[in-house]
Amino acid sequence: MEDMRFQPLNFSKLRFYSCSQSHLVLHCLNELAGRDMSDGLKGVLAENCPLRVHISRDCSISCIQGVSMICSLIKKINSVCLTFDLDETKDFVPLMKQLKRCECISYVQLNNPKDRIKFNDYLRALQVGRMLSCVRMLNIVRPDIGEKAPELNIGWHMRTMRLVECESLSFSRRFLEAAIGQKSIWGLHLVDCLLDHGCLEVLQQILRKFPQHIRYLSILSIRASSFRVAEFLSGIAGLRKLCTLEMSFDELSRQEESSFEYILLKNTLEKLRLVKCTFSKEHLEALSNWFPQMSTLRNLSFVCLVVHDSIAFQQMICSVRHLHCLESITIERTSLSDEILDVLSSVLSELNDIKWVYLAKIGSDHHPSRLQNLFRAIASCKRITALAFADMQINDALMPSICEMVESLEDLRDLTLWKNAFSANALEDLSVALERRSNSLNILDIKDNEGSRNERVVKLLQKNCRSVIHD
Ligand SMILES: [Zn+2]
Repeated sequence: MEDMRFQPLNFSKLRFYSCSQSHLVLHCLNELAGRDMSDGLKGVLAENCPLRVHISRDCSISCIQGVSMICSLIKKINSVCLTFDLDETKDFVPLMKQLKRCECISYVQLNNPKDRIKFNDYLRALQVGRMLSCVRMLNIVRPDIGEKAPELNIGWHMRTMRLVECESLSFSRRFLEAAIGQKSIWGLHLVDCLLDHGCLEVLQQILRKFPQHIRYLSILSIRASSFRVAEFLSGIAGLRKLCTLEMSFDELSRQEESSFEYILLKNTLEKLRLVKCTFSKEHLEALSNWFPQMSTLRNLSFVCLVVHDSIAFQQMICSVRHLHCLESITIERTSLSDEILDVLSSVLSELNDIKWVYLAKIGSDHHPSRLQNLFRAIASCKRITALAFADMQINDALMPSICEMVESLEDLRDLTLWKNAFSANALEDLSVALERRSNSLNILDIKDNEGSRNERVVKLLQKNCRSVIHD
């Protein structure tokens, strides 16, 4: 049971998940339905069942009944996340009606709703946001139900509402109207959505209505022609308990910069994720100056940054050393020069609590000695549990340094080397390093490396790693 999983490992990369071997257990459970199960067996199932289940477009009726059965067994409140790939040929209403009272469910994600009537039927069947329903966290992904979206059938008791990849202005508006009708709301997330001036006004009202409640806010990759996302910063500054902020914005005006300063220096943020932001020299210098005062920040991400001054960017990375509680750092799709890589190495070796380093697409022509320094620096961060070096064209010459690093990090569980230039020989060396460790890895991603097609080497790696993602 321990090795079961009902959803893909690198789930972010897949648009649709296909029902595969991982659902076999669901089929088996369905076979048991209707028979008397011993309390012992029920206990084992409830204890070990995975807490995230993805119901795909090609799931059979027995998968669905298996899900219903699992949810009736698990007693831990708000522990299960369910994702549905909605499909015109399937009717999930009966399953959802069964699920609405399962107290174990915490989060429901509905992908690709296309039929407006059926979609509202699903919301009604789940009793989303209703007083007696447990479904208080909802994620709607890629709605495509044309213009003139109907009012959404969502109660007033939501905790978290999330809308992702919405191309329809009327749907975005309906979603925001449902959000402003809430009694209180903790999390609001808009990612990659199309918004107009009407949406801007409702969103401003939401920020004004829940200054004491909203803790998690994402306004990421918004497409809007009639306003700038930075206009929200003054409203966000009024959120007194904000602990997670994820935002995309272009250059800031002086007033917007002072709102941003207020948000950061209020020192309530634990997580800051800046995606597709444009930073001038002055903004970078300001961030460098603010970091020493942000003592609560634990997670910092820079994704797709546009940086106008490389010296100021280097200083900003250098001042990350002042974030003493930092546990995770992500830099993605942002080029780092060799000099900045050196600065980052020295910063990482000073961060005592760092557990998670995620670097992806930060440039592919780094001098090998700079990368070697980076791996050495990380090797000294003894609390690391997850590492990613993705899409960086790292080649075999650096595998010895990676092996040394992997051997020295006892707590390392997840390692991503996705999209590099490792041969089968280098990956075999990695398997020897894994063999020497006392703990095995949980996930190793070596997909899109030339050597990952070698079955013999993959088998060697699997000896000391629960799941190897390979070509
Ligand atoms: Zn299935």
